[in-house]
Amino acid sequence: MIRITVWNEYVHERTEQKIAEVYPEGIHAAIAEFLGKEEDFEVRTATLDDENCGITKEVLAETDVLIWWGHIAHDRVPDEIAYLVRDAVLEGMGLICLHSAHHSKPFRYLLGTSCNLTWRESDDEEILWVIEPSHPITRGIDRYFKLSHEETYGEPFVIPTPDKLLLIGHYSGGEVFRSGCLYERGNGKIFYLQPGHESYPTFRVPEIQMLIRNAIRYLAPAYRQVTACPHVRKITDNAPYVI
Ligand code: ZN
Repeated sequence: MIRITVWNEYVHERTEQKIAEVYPEGIHAAIAEFLGKEEDFEVRTATLDDENCGITKEVLAETDVLIWWGHIAHDRVPDEIAYLVRDAVLEGMGLICLHSAHHSKPFRYLLGTSCNLTWRESDDEEILWVIEPSHPITRGIDRYFKLSHEETYGEPFVIPTPDKLLLIGHYSGGEVFRSGCLYERGNGKIFYLQPGHESYPTFRVPEIQMLIRNAIRYLAPAYRQVTACPHVRKITDNAPYVI
């Protein structure tokens, strides 16, 4: 089984009627619902208002892949929680950051840049082009697919050059954007997926669900270990390895 925790700040859906109509139970519940149909997935959810934001060392130790959606409450996630997530990724946990999670603390702490971008809400249509058709995350997706409306995210996107760029988004307003970015950090893998603005039913689009399912299976760790910094003996010493 792949153990998945879906984290959502869960603010828009409780404070704005229009958003509640799109995701009545919250974005986390919508994601957990389609993931829950997979026989090899074990899914739980956590939100900002849970104790410790629902994120503890124990929760992360039992999480193979963490999914993160946040937007207006990034600063309400304590640094200590973000560092726990960062350290779990460095050990090997997979992390999927969705849409406005480009500005979340875990993503920025792992990537080390501002992760700023340009943006606009103008109901643009988006075409997502597959750059790496043979990659396990884009498997099953055609050359491209369309989202009838998405928030426009544009370059420059202030991120380190991705280890693999899997998707490029193109908007009817003219912009292009690196919409599917894959990174390795320590023993862990990180996938950033741009679509998923709260006012559109993007997480009900089959291709988006397929990308998230594929990413979970790709990011699930085969190896997970703290990489410490031990002071060690020569290998020729007949003595314990660590001094
Ligand atoms: Zn948005």
